[in-house]
Amino acid sequence: MPTLVVKCRQCGRSAPANEFILDHIYRKMVCPMCIKDRHEKEKVHEEFRLERETKSQKSELLKPESQAINLKKDFKLMQRPLQQEKPIEDKQNQKRRFKCTKCTFEFPYNPATKTPLRCPYCNYTITYP
Ligand SMILES: [Zn+2]
Ligand SMILES: [Zn+2]
Repeated sequence: MPTLVVKCRQCGRSAPANEFILDHIYRKMVCPMCIKDRHEKEKVHEEFRLERETKSQKSELLKPESQAINLKKDFKLMQRPLQQEKPIEDKQNQKRRFKCTKCTFEFPYNPATKTPLRCPYCNYTITYP
């Protein structure tokens, strides 16, 4: 049975009759090439739309400079308490006192660094607990 070749009324190209499809966009029987063309056009449209959406999203993220400044401020605020805590810690360390085991002279010492190494009064080498 020979294949009936029909001329497409949409694009004028010839295609086998059994390959013609009723397309809801063209609202008529069109050849497979027309369907392919339409799909490719839609794909391009879709890609263009997505590209525009991502671009607009990016520009929205980049636009508010004030937000970046706010973040910097927040960062400074987060850093400040840490800088304040350190001297307090040092003071607490300085408050620690140690009595020389030899001469019983009492002096402040740093338990973290274990200094001074020797008693400031009798020069006795201190062994901290
Ligand atoms: Zn066609
Ligand atoms: Zn001592």
